[in-house]
Amino acid sequence: MLKFGQNANNFTYPFVLKACGELLLVEIGRRVHCEVVVMGFELDAYVGNSLLVMYSRFGDMEMVKRLFDGMPVRDLTSWNTVISGYTNNRDPFEALLVFGLMGELGVRPDSATLLSVLPACCDLVALKQVIEVHGFIVRNNVGYFDVEVTNSLIDVYCKCSFVIGARTLFEKMSGRDTVTWNSMTLGYVSNGDHFESLRIFCRMISEGARPDQVTLITVLGACDQITALQFGTSVHALITRRGFAMYTIVGTTLIDMYAKCGCLDRSRSVFDEMLEKNLVSWSAMIGALGLHGRGIDALMVFNEMKETGIKPDEVSFTLILSACSHAGLVNDGHCIFNQMMKEYGINPKDEHYSCMVDLLGRAGHLNEAYQFIKAMKVKPTFDVWAAFLSACSANHNIELAEIAARNAFQCKPQRVSPYVLLSNIYASEKRWEDVGRVRSMVRQMGLKKLPGCTFIELDKVVHRFLVGDRSHSQSEAIYAKLEDMRHQLKGLYTPDTSSVFYDVNEDLKEKMLWDHSERLAIAFSLIKTGPGTVIRITKNLRVCRDCHTVIKLISKLVSREIIMRDIHRFHHFSNGFCSCNDYW
Ligand SMILES: [Zn+2]
Ligand SMILES: [Zn+2]
Repeated sequence: MLKFGQNANNFTYPFVLKACGELLLVEIGRRVHCEVVVMGFELDAYVGNSLLVMYSRFGDMEMVKRLFDGMPVRDLTSWNTVISGYTNNRDPFEALLVFGLMGELGVRPDSATLLSVLPACCDLVALKQVIEVHGFIVRNNVGYFDVEVTNSLIDVYCKCSFVIGARTLFEKMSGRDTVTWNSMTLGYVSNGDHFESLRIFCRMISEGARPDQVTLITVLGACDQITALQFGTSVHALITRRGFAMYTIVGTTLIDMYAKCGCLDRSRSVFDEMLEKNLVSWSAMIGALGLHGRGIDALMVFNEMKETGIKPDEVSFTLILSACSHAGLVNDGHCIFNQMMKEYGINPKDEHYSCMVDLLGRAGHLNEAYQFIKAMKVKPTFDVWAAFLSACSANHNIELAEIAARNAFQCKPQRVSPYVLLSNIYASEKRWEDVGRVRSMVRQMGLKKLPGCTFIELDKVVHRFLVGDRSHSQSEAIYAKLEDMRHQLKGLYTPDTSSVFYDVNEDLKEKMLWDHSERLAIAFSLIKTGPGTVIRITKNLRVCRDCHTVIKLISKLVSREIIMRDIHRFHHFSNGFCSCNDYW
């Protein structure tokens, strides 16, 4: 335009500046800015605001600040641009400062201001500020009835773990949209209350609100956390009815949900029926097979994926290595590890190293695993040492276990699991003094062992059992059933009391083992379900050795298939055997 001798003016500059900002044309943008100064338009409010927008997009907040400070007239747009600029450029602290200044100077914000300020509070996890902004909204009636502002408040409250505050707002709202429902369901999931998130979802459907992909992915994620297979299955039916099944991301989440709820066959059929598979869907299937110890099948899917021309990434390599390790495929694992580096040029990360250590440890090659760690190009992290410690524990090697534990303590002193493992190893060797030493370390550090609990879903209701739980309404029947099984199994095995932390007599130790939450859940399921029904339970920690043995025996005693998910993998117990071949 300038070439034709026409001069730009205060109406055309904003468009040019906007375009420069959007296309990130930094050099040209700066030149236009110089021109603006030369032509004397810098002090024009409209042009000035456009300059703020452009430099915010460039991430040059210094310049934004300088221009803003020099503006003779600042309107609401100027303030909003600066605040959102700071928020978008990850400087939430400055964003809140400008917002505060705005209040001091008596400039009245609008909904747009609030929508920029609230995410800034979120980044700082600054609950106090959110409550202040909320108070401001109520007092000044700005954005009070604005659904977008309220949604943002709900979202930020949840992210600051103030779910009650979010819920109160949610209940007061008259016009909830899909985003509102999504924020609330996701809020409960991210704060660990999966049950409540499913309840919110039920209400959403019954009140006629329309779920979208985000809703469904959130809800399926909640189902897999608490192994709510029946609930997840009905969500799947809804997905099919409402035509969401064609979305790759929804299908991929279904694969994951079914696998984590113990239904590998259904994961497979969702996968096979998918119209379009991307890297994430293939990876989900590989992960699903690995989780269930089906290493050979995982390798087949992995190769099939490569044949279709999809290039594996870091994540898919982690999944396939983990699948090899869960199935004890040492040679295949080695091959894939080399392939990853040589053919695909991916430098191994922490998780790849941990998988390899696990793989070697499982096969009993402890020294090789130790050499492997020592030869690592990067400093071994907690996960690597933790994997090695598990391997030492499974192979009863105290000497190496001590080395592994010492390193694990150093990497993450606040993690209690290595202390528990080390103490178990000492206890199995009856080295009570050492057990006491580890326990007092745990006490001194103020660490708490996460209480073990087991979930089981019956008729779409998820029941949760803690160790020695007597709070269940059918507690008496459950303990009677356990006592009955204990008698029937007596003499069939030697209780492995090494996971009992206390130096008490063996009888009492054995009794304590029978209080473990997974046994309570199984007893409950045996009472409530008919012969032949598959029992599915989920444990939040690693299953202990004794429970593992006992569950194998129970599966034979009552002729039931028991599918258990623990923190690492799945165990399919049937007829006295487990799919993990006793290594987990
Ligand atoms: Zn146990
Ligand atoms: Zn097992």
